[in-house]
Amino acid sequence: MIAIGLTGGIGSGKSTVAEGFVRRGAVLVDADAIVRRQQAPSSPVFVQMVQRFGDGIVAPDGTLDRSAVASIVFADPDALADLNAITHPPVGREIRRRISELEATDRLVVLDIPLLGERLASGEAPRYRTSGILVVDAPIDVAVERLVRFRGFEEQDARARVASQLPRQERLALADWVIDNSGGVDALDAAVDAAYRWASGLAHVEPVAAQAGR
Ligand code: ADP
Repeated sequence: MIAIGLTGGIGSGKSTVAEGFVRRGAVLVDADAIVRRQQAPSSPVFVQMVQRFGDGIVAPDGTLDRSAVASIVFADPDALADLNAITHPPVGREIRRRISELEATDRLVVLDIPLLGERLASGEAPRYRTSGILVVDAPIDVAVERLVRFRGFEEQDARARVASQLPRQERLALADWVIDNSGGVDALDAAVDAAYRWASGLAHVEPVAAQAGR
């Protein structure tokens, strides 16, 4: 398995790059998607969240009201810690399970893990071994414009979200390869081609068993 750690600020185009890698044959391990699946109505995670935060986090259609959860934990560090204690262990287990299925294969695996950049920048040991780190980069104004145009953000909210993330230069400093996504979709496609070629030539990460034997 070649494992790429993918990171990029909101609106940078990280999800678009992940899709481009999948189209070219990579396997995506998308932590956000795993979390969303694990929060499906009546799942263990969903039940624990409702026990902790109340029925106010359940939307009329019975699914999780993510914005209600976000507004509770935004203002309350204890609530955030409780949310993380409920959601992080199962997503970590599922990511490790996916990696263990893939690590003895020749697949190119893209790990899209929220806060990967923040973690690396703060000097925390990476939780998952990678062959290289791919950063998707776009100027702040471009990211904000995309969030407003395509994702329905108010400009002020988009700026606040971008500003709350790892500063651009700090993220770039983590990169083994950078995709500059300041241009249009054709330029991005060419940049994904080049990044995919780079990634395909990287060293495989060794399965855990092989490492333990050293
Ligand atoms: P992220 O995952 O980094 O938040 P996305 O990949 O979802 O960002 O991109 C944000 C929005 O911008 C999406 O609607 C996407 O289709 C669009 N987008 C991404 N890159 C480009 C580009 N180079 N040109 C035009 N639109 C883009």
